[in-house]
Amino acid sequence: MPLIAQKFGGTSVADAGKIKNVARRVVATKKAGHQVIVVVSAMGKETDRLFNLAHQIDKHPAERELDMLLSTGEQVSISLLAMAIHSLGFEAKSFTGHQVRIVTDSSFNKARIVRVDAERIRQELNQGQIVIVAGFQGMDENLEITTLGRGGSDTTALALAATMQAEVCEIYTDVDGVYTADPAIVPEARKIDCISYDEMLELASLGARVLQLRSVEFAKKYGVTIHVRSSFNDQEGTWVREEDSSMEEVIVRGVAYNRDEAKLTIKQVPDRPGLAATIFSTVAGANIVVDMIIQNVGEDGLADITFTVSQSDSRRAMDILASLGEEQGLGEVECDTGITKLSVVGVGMRSHSGVAAKMFQSLAKEGINIMMISTSEIAISCVIESKYTELGVRTLHTVFDLGGA
Ligand code: ASP
Ligand code: MG
Repeated sequence: MPLIAQKFGGTSVADAGKIKNVARRVVATKKAGHQVIVVVSAMGKETDRLFNLAHQIDKHPAERELDMLLSTGEQVSISLLAMAIHSLGFEAKSFTGHQVRIVTDSSFNKARIVRVDAERIRQELNQGQIVIVAGFQGMDENLEITTLGRGGSDTTALALAATMQAEVCEIYTDVDGVYTADPAIVPEARKIDCISYDEMLELASLGARVLQLRSVEFAKKYGVTIHVRSSFNDQEGTWVREEDSSMEEVIVRGVAYNRDEAKLTIKQVPDRPGLAATIFSTVAGANIVVDMIIQNVGEDGLADITFTVSQSDSRRAMDILASLGEEQGLGEVECDTGITKLSVVGVGMRSHSGVAAKMFQSLAKEGINIMMISTSEIAISCVIESKYTELGVRTLHTVFDLGGA
């Protein structure tokens, strides 16, 4: 019997009525002759509520205890969904992450799934149960409860879909799919019908918030087709799948932005071999992920090194660099949090030239200054001043003709 995995986000299970709605959808899939695994998030803004509660008690709550707390949100929604399915006359059982042995590493708050035990789930499915699994949570080798980072239920769903070899993993959300740009900024943004794994990976890592990055990595690695769609209507959403030649016809698939970065500049770095290595290994050693990097070498053998990190890491990075600076004779460190990374993504860039030029020209025409640039095979990103975010996104959306029709 074909197997379908379905994931419902917080807005789709925000209250009792919505949970009943989800139950009806799940049951319809079961009735259509499928085995069904359902993954749910916590209800509405429950994870935020728990997070804030913890921070009212302690500004720096212990990571282990935070995961203990945050994981409760999903335990509420899975049990309620099971009850809603029962009341429609169908069999369903809810499971926490550890009950179905979703084993993760031990990095609390951002754990990675290392394996999932298919056996228990298989047994239940074969007995005709609809299997409901709590998203976002797992257990490490020491039986400690872990969570997978915000948006982690997507990754639970894709990991289960991959392990159980589901035909498709449906991600139900409050929008109709993946859009060419954030519709809150660009009203004429369009739903994308079909997008490749690589494009989705870039969009997710460059700021689009529809899918957790890790979930797309799972999908790509195991070739699971994702269907991102609305839980409030029956329209087709966006298919995320293997690239085919037709996808290259579109040069830019979408525009993404990320306001959550900070730009750090270390002044007067002596131009000698090994120093950049020392700086960046110190930063990496503190578990801070560095994104873009540029270095300008001046005349007097001193360079400025500028790089970006996530805003939440910027304070810590500043402290680390200050002490390293004293040790290594570096200049002062400046931090700018008023920046946005603006990106265009599309596999068509591989075979079309001039995309970067067009992007820079159109930003220049609007008087938007570009502070940093980075590229990959299928994406171009610019760091700009945050106050130009909306204008920048709209400009690129228009210039690359994404409004369609
Ligand atoms: N409930 C978690 C969050 O709000 C996980 C998820 O919804 O995917 O981030
Ligand atoms: Mg989400």
